[in-house]
Amino acid sequence: KWNEILNTVKTEHEISDVSFDTWMRPLEVFGIVDNKLYILVPSEQMALSYISKKYYLPLKVAIAEITGIEYEIEFILPEQAKKLHTTKAPKTPSAPVGSDNSNLNPNYTFETFVVGNNNRFAQSAALAVAESPGEAYNPLYIYGGPGLGKTHLMHSIGHFILEQKPDTKVIYVTSEEFTNEVIESIRNGNASSMTKFRDKYRKVDVLMIDDIQFIIGKESTQEEFFHTFNALQTQGKQIILTSDKPPKEMETLEERIRSRFEWGLMADIGVPDYETRMAILRKKAESDNFNINDEILNYIANNIKSNVRELEGALNKLLAYNNLVHTEITMDIAQKELQNIITPDKPKEITPQLIIEVVSEHFQISLDQMISKNRSSDIAKPRQIAMYLCKNMTDIPLDTIGSLLGGRDHSTIIHGIKKISEEYETNETTKSLIETIKKKINPN
Ligand code: ADP
Ligand code: MG
Repeated sequence: KWNEILNTVKTEHEISDVSFDTWMRPLEVFGIVDNKLYILVPSEQMALSYISKKYYLPLKVAIAEITGIEYEIEFILPEQAKKLHTTKAPKTPSAPVGSDNSNLNPNYTFETFVVGNNNRFAQSAALAVAESPGEAYNPLYIYGGPGLGKTHLMHSIGHFILEQKPDTKVIYVTSEEFTNEVIESIRNGNASSMTKFRDKYRKVDVLMIDDIQFIIGKESTQEEFFHTFNALQTQGKQIILTSDKPPKEMETLEERIRSRFEWGLMADIGVPDYETRMAILRKKAESDNFNINDEILNYIANNIKSNVRELEGALNKLLAYNNLVHTEITMDIAQKELQNIITPDKPKEITPQLIIEVVSEHFQISLDQMISKNRSSDIAKPRQIAMYLCKNMTDIPLDTIGSLLGGRDHSTIIHGIKKISEEYETNETTKSLIETIKKKINPN
C-alpha cells in the first residue's frame, strides 16, 4: 500500500525520478496511533521541514484516497520515533472482521448493495441462499467482470447468515488463500497438518471461495478442493463460489470440477446501466454524508461505465478533495480532479461518411435514398445539406463529395452548396437546422 501511495503522489504531481528518489522513497510508515499516521524521515532536520512543506498535502490526499481513511499525518525523525515507541506502541490498523473470524467486510451487506438490471438475478439468488443455506442452490456460482460486485454479494450472504444464526460456521477465503493453505499443509508433510486443514474446511456450514478461477492449473489445490466440495455437498453444507467467467469458459479446468460448478445455480453480474450507476453513486454519497450535486454524479456516471470499483474510486477522490479543501465541488474541480480516471471519448473524426449518416438519420431517410436519383424535395434538400456540410466541415474535393452522394457531377454539387449557403444567410430556420445537425456531427 505504501508504495502505491508514494507512486500515486509521484504521478499525480509529476515528481521527477530524482526528486522522488531523494525525498520520497526513503520515507517509511512508522506506525499509526489513533488516527495519526507517523511517517519516518530517516535523515536530518532540513529534509524533514522541506518534505513536510512540500509533500504534506499530496501525501495526505493520496493516503485518504488509497486507504479510504483520513489520517492526520506527522513526519518524525528517528530519535523521535524511539521516544514514541516507548510511550505508545503504534497500533497497526486491523482489517475489518465480522463478529467471528470469517473475514467479512462490514460494509458489504445486502443493505448497501444497489440492485439493478445487471445484478437483479444474482442478488436474488444470493438472498435465497442466505435465507436457506444448503437448501436453495448448492453451489451458488456468481460470475462477472472485475469490480462488478461479486465479492460484495458474497460477503452479504455471510453477514445475513451470521445475523440470523450467529453460531453458523462461515468461512470466506480467496482462492489464493485457499491455495496457500493447501500448499502449507502439504509442505509440513505430516498427517496432523493435513487433518487440521481438513477439519477447518470440511466442518463448516458455509464455505465461500472468492475468485475460484485462480485454482486453474494448480493440481493439488484442485484435488483438495474436489474433496472438500464433495464432503460439504454430501452433508448439505452451502458452497458459494465467484469467478470472472462461467464454468464452461474455464477450458483448462478439470472436467470433474467444472461439472460440479454447474450443479447448483450460476448467476452472472453484468455491467450496470446508467440508472444503476447513478443509484450507486447517490447511495454512496449519502452514506458518506457527501453533499455533491447531481450534475457531477451525472458526469461520473456518464464517463465510467464498466466498473463499479472505478465509479466509487472517482467519488472517493472528490470526497477526499472536499474534506481537505472544504469547498463545494464544482464541475471544473471534478473534471480536473478526475482527469486521470476519466479519459474523455476521443472525438470522432469528421468524415463525409459520418456527415451523410448523421444527416440521413436526422431526416429519417435511408442512405439509399440519399444517394438515389430521387429529386423530390424531402430527399433532395437533405442531400444538399449533406453537400454543404461536407464542404464546410471537411476539406475533401467536390468531386469526391459528388461520388459519395451517388455519383453526382461537379455542377450539381456546386449548385447544392450554393443553394444551402444562401438559405443559411437568409433563413433563420435553415440556419438553426444546420447548426443543430453540425452539433450532432461534432458535439465539441
Ligand atoms: P468484484 O468482486 O466483482 O471484483 P467487488 O464486489 O469488490 O467487485 O465490488 C467493487 C466495489 O464496488 C465494492 O466497493 C463494492 O461495494 C462496490 N459495488 C459493486 N456493485 C455494487 C452495487 N450493486 N451496489 C453498491 N456497491 C457496489
Ligand atoms: Mg472480488
